[in-house]
Amino acid sequence: MMKQQAFKLNIDRKSITFKLWAYFILFSLLLLGILWALQIFFLNNYYQQMKIAETTRIANVISSQYGKEDFLDTIRSLSVSNDMYIQIETEDTILFSPSKDSNRTPSYMYLPEMGMVRKQLLEGNRPSASIIISSVESNMAPRHRDGDKKILAYAGYLENSNENTVILYIFSPLFPVDSTVGILRSQLIYVTIISLSLAFFLSFYLSNRISKPIRRINKTAEKLAAGEYGIQFEGGHYSEIIQLANTLTLASNELKKTDSLRKDLIANVSHDLRTPLTMVKSYAEMIRDLSGNNPEKRAAHLEVIIEEADRLNLLVSDMLALSRLQTRVTPLEKTTFNLCEAAQSIVNSYGLYTEKENYRFILECPKGSDVQISADENKIKQVISNLFYNAIKYCGTDKEIIVRILSDETRCRCEVSDHGMGIPQSEIDQIWERYFKASTNHVRAVKGTGLGLSIVKEIIILHGGKYGVKSEEGKGSTFWFELKK
Ligand code: ADP
Repeated sequence: MMKQQAFKLNIDRKSITFKLWAYFILFSLLLLGILWALQIFFLNNYYQQMKIAETTRIANVISSQYGKEDFLDTIRSLSVSNDMYIQIETEDTILFSPSKDSNRTPSYMYLPEMGMVRKQLLEGNRPSASIIISSVESNMAPRHRDGDKKILAYAGYLENSNENTVILYIFSPLFPVDSTVGILRSQLIYVTIISLSLAFFLSFYLSNRISKPIRRINKTAEKLAAGEYGIQFEGGHYSEIIQLANTLTLASNELKKTDSLRKDLIANVSHDLRTPLTMVKSYAEMIRDLSGNNPEKRAAHLEVIIEEADRLNLLVSDMLALSRLQTRVTPLEKTTFNLCEAAQSIVNSYGLYTEKENYRFILECPKGSDVQISADENKIKQVISNLFYNAIKYCGTDKEIIVRILSDETRCRCEVSDHGMGIPQSEIDQIWERYFKASTNHVRAVKGTGLGLSIVKEIIILHGGKYGVKSEEGKGSTFWFELKK
């Protein structure tokens, strides 16, 4: 009882293995059934139909040759090549009969059959008649007939008018198919056993081969569901399953990236938000406890609070801008504008630095200064602004920043150079990652969210452009981007 139950549980009727196996067996059974039916049950019928069709065809050939010069030769050769007894008669004379033609065949071998088929022809009122007569039926047992044999008898008019009636008779022995059926049956039994067992094992093997990699993928996917990201999925022998495995591997790698990004983000955001918040809190406490009555100190402390609040504001708006860009929420609003003018407006917006802190800004544009591009003007301005502001933050003591616009027929390029501390080669690829700060940048006094270059990167990618940096430690950096015109 227990055993039976366990066996029942093991068979999953919805599984690929079971279904494939069942369909394979059903298909083989169907094929074998058709084969059995055709070979054993319908062979006799089929043979008789073939014989009737063949006889009718020969009768048509004879009828088409009737009256022609080599008519008798045609009949003779047809009769010999098809093993048929052919006779042509008018009402009172025999026009052609093998007995007349050759000594081998006894005359009127098929006399009773001839009578029967003639009767059919006359009664049927049709141009021809075919009947199958067994020797028992024909009531004759000539010496060459043993047992019950069948004869196909055909009669048809070659000429049918009031003056003359010519009838063509064709007799063809039908060989008994019983012995053939017997042989076929014993062969079919072997065929059935062999093909069923082949179907059984082959389908089992094949279905296992197909379902095994799927089961393996499922096992791996369970691990993925349990949080093991970056896991590799293995395909199998079939391209569809290999594709599925590749897609899942891709998804798993993407999940790994997203997961580490999420962890980084939480770590960085909490750190970056916490630092200014702590500053705000501690300075507010200082004002409450110490400097509340000292206007000078209070003003200085309030200044710090305002600066930190600004930093928070900047961070939050940068984070929002970046996530909007990355999730592609806002589409690009492309217009045609002059890149030189856009750069000029950014340089102008930092005018305070030239006035108060002795910065020197140089904008180099090609002659004519008309570099028209089709892009999202606000976003490109943000890119220039981020690069420019970085240059201000990290420039050298010379406080010189050069913005250079270059252009050829297909592309235009914007470079922002400074003579500052530069970036170590080993870190140059990482600076485009969010929250990355180069090791040369230790100064907290430098305001930054760590998101500026990530925003630059996203905007340029959205525009299908290129970006990069050339930098030498201690000598300065040149950040650039290129857009198609
Ligand atoms: P941040 O807000 O910290 O400036 P960014 O994404 O704009 O963030 O820049 C990432 C890092 O790349 C900076 O922290 C800095 O170390 C480095 N960096 C960016 N611009 C320059 C530059 N012009 N010169 C030297 N280092 C730079």
